[in-house]
Amino acid sequence: MRTRSNARYILRVVTATVQITLDAPRRTALSPGSDKRVLLLKPRGFCAGVVRAIDIVNIALETFGAPIYVRKEIVHNSFVVNELAGKGAIFVDDIDQVPEGMRVIYSAHGVSPAVRESSKQRGLKVIDATCPLVTKVHVEAIKFAKLGYSLVLIGHRDHDEIEGTLGEAPDVTQVVSSVEEVHALQVPDPSRVAYLTQTTLSLDEARDIIQALKKKFPQIAGPHSQDICYATENRQVAVKNVAHQADLVLVVGSTNSSNSNRLVEVSQNLSTKSYLIDKAEDIQPAWLEGVNSVAVTAGASAPEVLVQGVVALLIERGYGDVDEVEVMPENVRFGLPPEIAQAVAAQALA
Ligand code: SF4
Repeated sequence: MRTRSNARYILRVVTATVQITLDAPRRTALSPGSDKRVLLLKPRGFCAGVVRAIDIVNIALETFGAPIYVRKEIVHNSFVVNELAGKGAIFVDDIDQVPEGMRVIYSAHGVSPAVRESSKQRGLKVIDATCPLVTKVHVEAIKFAKLGYSLVLIGHRDHDEIEGTLGEAPDVTQVVSSVEEVHALQVPDPSRVAYLTQTTLSLDEARDIIQALKKKFPQIAGPHSQDICYATENRQVAVKNVAHQADLVLVVGSTNSSNSNRLVEVSQNLSTKSYLIDKAEDIQPAWLEGVNSVAVTAGASAPEVLVQGVVALLIERGYGDVDEVEVMPENVRFGLPPEIAQAVAAQALA
């Protein structure tokens, strides 16, 4: 059976391609003189890693049939997770909850070597939906650890991504999430220290922490290229460009989505009120009192259908003028992992 999502991938080049577009900010002309308006930011919503991870679950369900186990939320969005659960995906917190010999998908946030080993012990058939940009950070961690560096991982301790990256070299890695924590760091050899970051941090916060690290360890090494991913950066830049034109910024995303929370912070740091909402119904009428222009964006794991629901509700409340503000183009695609690409190719030949 060739399904819609399979067909899309048959037409797509299967090897990973990364095209990172960070052109100078540009903006569509805003409609002058309108009273109540919506500024719909672009880029917003799904990134390439999230599209790939969701496609992997869908293709696995279509190709191998339910149930398919998924370790942790495939992406941090409750709507996406509930939709996939309705199709037969079973989300578990721990590999021990997957029956022996079954198929399991690792989430976009990645896993530690300990999780990979547990899967092996249980004879699981693994499909890895880790975002290639998270894998890049894992590879850097392994490289620095092998070279004898102490590692400083900048990020949020309770985030799935940090748990996975930390697991690559737990004996030599310390996690920091603030400048204050940098001051308290102790390492065996201050001339052999390297830092890495979570992919979904605030650019500004990470910059401050990196500056503090460079001050404390002048010889500190860093990643070859920034670990904060293109999608996190682009969505933050878009908010920075537009927040000053809005009375309110609404960010569509779930509360456990790191990059969505950072978008709220970016707006609040620019003194524009901002709220994180899972869906349109979360908007409280009081938020819109005296508000003429509402900017709407979405975290990298939030589907467009929820954004359109927010826009529809705002139109109902009198925000009849909707301008899409494109701050920069974005055209990034990742290929499928081999275990899924092979299944798609086999179906194409059938
Ligand atoms: Fe990958 Fe960035 Fe998307 Fe995370 S937010 S899945 S690192 S592209």
